[in-house]
Amino acid sequence: MSFAAQNFSQDIVRALTECGYEKLTPIQQQAIPHARRGNDILANAQTGTGKTAAFSLPIIQQILDTPKSRSRCHARALILAPTRELVAQIAKNIQDYSKYTDLKVAAIYGGTKMSSQERVLEQGVDILVATPGRLIEHMELKNLFLANLEFLVFDEADRMLDMGFVSAIRTIMADIRNHPQTMLFSATFSSQMNVLAGDILRKPKRISV
Ligand code: AMP
Repeated sequence: MSFAAQNFSQDIVRALTECGYEKLTPIQQQAIPHARRGNDILANAQTGTGKTAAFSLPIIQQILDTPKSRSRCHARALILAPTRELVAQIAKNIQDYSKYTDLKVAAIYGGTKMSSQERVLEQGVDILVATPGRLIEHMELKNLFLANLEFLVFDEADRMLDMGFVSAIRTIMADIRNHPQTMLFSATFSSQMNVLAGDILRKPKRISV
């Protein structure tokens, strides 16, 4: 199945063609229709399956379909991932997919200066990709508010739990008032993961590849 057949706009399809994407991978075939309908998603997927495009393309399209002016210190979409390398990779992919649009994508992770990230957040972003620890630091400094969040993704959620981010995730969730469309991707499911998924997802569509 082609990306054009999934009703992605020309600007996205053109960028995907340049990335060498012609057909959807199995996780994309399963996740994209549910995500486009606004459903929460619980996906069992390994790395290398094309999961980044599976969650990010529907978010990019939905943001383009409902334009809003950027609010200071707010993001419309938040993608959480366990490591700075993964955050940087996801942000790069999203930048590639949205290169023919005016979406603003930012990556936030530790080991780099707070001040330059602070300036980016202050202007408001459309899609924010972050590690939980650095995100909380910015929330505590009131550089970022999550009250208006519309989309929330947990990528490699099992690795986030393994790295001890469970309380960080709970702190982040406590700041989110309205239920954003939420998608959780994980390669494994422990009992701790099932409890977390039960708490953060609302009637999720279950996907496995
Ligand atoms: P991911 O699992 O998101 O890290 O993706 C794994 C690799 O597959 C990355 O190099 C992606 O650029 C690539 N990829 C994702 N979706 C597609 C697709 N539909 N066609 C070809 N390559 C893809």
